[in-house]
Amino acid sequence: MAKDSSYRQPLFCWQGVVYLVKGARCYRAGLSHKPGLDLTFWRQRGYQQLEVLTPPLPLGTAAFLHNLVAGCLENGALGVKHAQIAAALKMGQSRLGLPPWPHTGALPIAPLSPPPPAELALVREVLAGRILWREELAQALAERKLGVNTPLEDLGHWLYLAGEVSLLPGVGYDPDGRPRCRRCGQATGLVKVSCAACGQADCLLCEGCLAMGQSRRCRPLYARPWPSSVKPPVRPPEIWRPRLQFDLTRAQADAYREAGEFASQDKEKECLLWAACGAGKTEVAYGAIAAALARGCRVLYACPRKEVIRELHLRLQVVWPGLRLQALYGGSPGKYGPADLTLATTHQALRFYRCFDLVVLDEVDAFPLAGDPMLYHAVARARREQGQTLWLTATPPPELVARVRKGQLAVIYLPVRHHGYPLPRPEFIRETFLKPPGKGPLPRSLVRCINTTLAEGLQLLIFVPAVYMVTGVVDWLVAAWPGQAQPGDWVRGCYAAHPRREEVIAAFRRREFPVLVTTTVMERGVTIPRLHVLVLYADDERVFTASTLVQIAGRAGRSVEYPAGRVWFIARRLSQAMAEAVRQIREFNDLARRRGYLK
Ligand SMILES: [Zn+2]
Ligand SMILES: [Zn+2]
Repeated sequence: MAKDSSYRQPLFCWQGVVYLVKGARCYRAGLSHKPGLDLTFWRQRGYQQLEVLTPPLPLGTAAFLHNLVAGCLENGALGVKHAQIAAALKMGQSRLGLPPWPHTGALPIAPLSPPPPAELALVREVLAGRILWREELAQALAERKLGVNTPLEDLGHWLYLAGEVSLLPGVGYDPDGRPRCRRCGQATGLVKVSCAACGQADCLLCEGCLAMGQSRRCRPLYARPWPSSVKPPVRPPEIWRPRLQFDLTRAQADAYREAGEFASQDKEKECLLWAACGAGKTEVAYGAIAAALARGCRVLYACPRKEVIRELHLRLQVVWPGLRLQALYGGSPGKYGPADLTLATTHQALRFYRCFDLVVLDEVDAFPLAGDPMLYHAVARARREQGQTLWLTATPPPELVARVRKGQLAVIYLPVRHHGYPLPRPEFIRETFLKPPGKGPLPRSLVRCINTTLAEGLQLLIFVPAVYMVTGVVDWLVAAWPGQAQPGDWVRGCYAAHPRREEVIAAFRRREFPVLVTTTVMERGVTIPRLHVLVLYADDERVFTASTLVQIAGRAGRSVEYPAGRVWFIARRLSQAMAEAVRQIREFNDLARRRGYLK
């Protein structure tokens, strides 16, 4: 069967009119790229005349004017005042800076035949719980080997008229006329572009979510919540019960049970799982996932980092062999299949709409999630309105910490690592006259820390607040190192854009040299067994926030081989962030001791 060739057009751009349709008792406002389709739809429901109010406009503009007109109708449903509508349109025009248009008059509109119900059903099915561009809708159908002959925008529009689907412009306007991206929710980073698709010189494009394809004023998004009437059957225990490959520690088992209680009841909508660095929070989250799966719920596990999703996918296939798992990240095969448990980078979560009963959000604080309203927006929208969120982190952002301290947010603590030793408490060393690298002699405390490390046969990670300081400190150490020169290359540096970064880290892991100077790029995801950690210029609060310092301190003492790694903060003064980091670590150790989790 020949498919509509327009599927293969690179981007579909929506151009349409705002109209008024007259019923027996009231008027309604509408917007359409094909008014004949709307005429058919409304005639089936007893409406007659369709009066076009505007020339064809890009979707974002049409949607804004449509809302103004609809606002007028709410006030006087029956006796529609054309003068009032004309005034509203005029105000809208001036808010958006649109040129005036000539009176459109009565355009001849011929009714079109309605789309076939079978094709509508397919779109309804693939769009369930999703928010997609027309092109993505085509991909979703193709991935499931489903085909339709009616243009997808017509099918989507018919479902929109029926109230089953939302039709949103990629970039739309708030009621005050301020543009906002409807996909990622941001009002900043919108740029005017000359658009080949809609032919306008001032089309709006969102730079914030460009990595996921162009969100523009003239592109339509079709969104449909997961239908609440479709409750999946309750799954048997052999499907939902995780097959753990090891025993949980007592602390993990307690947190696992609490996470399960959270997800099996509807008491709390949100909960924070606050775990020590390296304590195994993912395994604890299995408790919540299992409880949700047992209730027949749909679960999303989201994390900003692609590597985490890929690695987790492999692990979860072993833990839940009978479950339909789907992993979504940039470049993952297949994006639209059905799944019981979906793993996704937070970017990929932008394609879900009111879909999941439970969202587990890992590394809430990690780049690029922290301070990124777009990703919070994405995850909040992927969740069903009545759904639950479980945040997982070792270092919650200050807003979440504040809510926990005020008792406004439910919290589960996992304060101890699996080896049962306390977290290393950072030691603060004040160097009142600490100079920039290369200026003057090496600080005596730095020399002492390095000597201690070398004498114990350990390795040392030195964190500095800026990339330029990496080379600066390496050169400083090599040039000013007192006493016996170390044989060979004993100190090296690396940072995110370092040309041989992976090579340097690998050599450090192989213990080929003892001291590595680095930036916060090494703040997480690194486990080196016999390690001390030092933060130089630790009072630079722009870089070393409390969260960052807790993460950095979390590099030490991770392995059971050597749980006693030390952490030194060297700075001219004690910053608030340093004090807060020490406080959080001390509280965790106290809690672990009180609950009897410590060795
Ligand atoms: Zn956007
Ligand atoms: Zn455009």
